[in-house]
Amino acid sequence: MTIAYCTNDAIKKNVDDIRQAINSGPNKHKAYDKLAYIVDTFGPRMWAQPSMALAVDYLYNQIQSWDATKTGLVEVRLEELDEISTWVRGSEQLILKSPRKRPQKLGMIGLGLIVPGNIKDGEVVVVRNWGELDEKGKADKIKGKIVCYNVAWTTYDDLKFYRQQGPDRASAYGAIAVLLRSVASFSIYSPHTGNVRYSGTTPKIPAAAITVEDAEMLQRMQDRGQKITVDLELNSEMKASKSHNIIAEIKGQQYPNQIILMGGHFDSWDTGSQTGAMDDGAGTLVTLEALKVVADLGIRPLRTLRWIAWSGEEMGLPNNGNQHYAKYHGDEDHVVALENDVGQLTAIGFGFSGKLQTSRMVRQLIMNYIPELSVVNENDGSGVDTKPLGDKGVPLMRNIYKDPNDDYYFKYHHSAGDTMNILNPDEMDSNVFAISSMMYIIADNPERLPK
Ligand SMILES: [Zn+2]
Repeated sequence: MTIAYCTNDAIKKNVDDIRQAINSGPNKHKAYDKLAYIVDTFGPRMWAQPSMALAVDYLYNQIQSWDATKTGLVEVRLEELDEISTWVRGSEQLILKSPRKRPQKLGMIGLGLIVPGNIKDGEVVVVRNWGELDEKGKADKIKGKIVCYNVAWTTYDDLKFYRQQGPDRASAYGAIAVLLRSVASFSIYSPHTGNVRYSGTTPKIPAAAITVEDAEMLQRMQDRGQKITVDLELNSEMKASKSHNIIAEIKGQQYPNQIILMGGHFDSWDTGSQTGAMDDGAGTLVTLEALKVVADLGIRPLRTLRWIAWSGEEMGLPNNGNQHYAKYHGDEDHVVALENDVGQLTAIGFGFSGKLQTSRMVRQLIMNYIPELSVVNENDGSGVDTKPLGDKGVPLMRNIYKDPNDDYYFKYHHSAGDTMNILNPDEMDSNVFAISSMMYIIADNPERLPK
């Protein structure tokens, strides 16, 4: 049991080479530059829609053109998803009628997966939380009205339920639509979208995000007893489509069936002209560069190092990329799976979900080889795309940075503010290094991580 805890000179040298290639060598700032090209050229990448399909083709062709792919060190393939339908946004608008003296367009964006709707002079009732919804619902003040959830920011994990379940819970009291204060830690009049989850047990009603500023304005109007009415128009449709996961890997030289998986989701929302730069174009390109550094150095580890661009995380619809991967690859022997979908400030370590003895070994490997990193947070490794593997017992990891309140990432998440401007080439490189070195070490350490 002590073997793993000895430093191995060959691994140490390879980690030094990975570090040098990223900090001052040919891979420096490459993740940022390649992402910027994709963001600038293809725009937001809504799932299984034309701009995403073009970006997927482009990225696949890029990997095919790598020297390491031409020599056979890297193998790359597209895996077509089974039958899918995607949600396509149409024209949308929200106009404040009463109490404004003249009709006023409000900033808004329809939430993902919503049913269409066209409401004229709908009356708005504002609630601050579930408790107020229930109170007003039981007093029959919701029926036939539009519910506005004006819930103050705490954490994303608390508030995302208002977006996902808000329409259903309002519909249960007879509401006809929902306006959601954007789930965001900060706002400069920026609506943030995201998906809703209809349970099917109540009528599906349309829903749109509005800005923090306007939610508070509607609250003030209600508090002073003004009647609020709006026109709300939300057009959208479901369309059959096609999409692909991209997979690239370096086959292990001794244990090709043992897989170290890393990746991000390549689809995004469509709020602004660059949406999907950070979420999760950056995670996709950072993990891809993590593979490319190892490939460029000509390293073939003992185990297989596999990268994936998952398709369709944001909408989470049936047969999306993570479900496809779990269905067709979930029974393969995964040593660990890492998802990078959290933003890319300077990496300080990893979140880990799995057995304690496995995380102990991860810690020891970091101590031995990656002095830049120190943190391993227990029970914090899961992600939306890796969860199906975690459910099968695969240890999960994610890269983490210092941001105790999640308020950096959620300023921009799913909004028009998600652009290249909020990313930094050096910070992205710190994540390329953290992920590349960690995944390489796990792939090449003589002793495998405990199952
Ligand atoms: Zn994401």
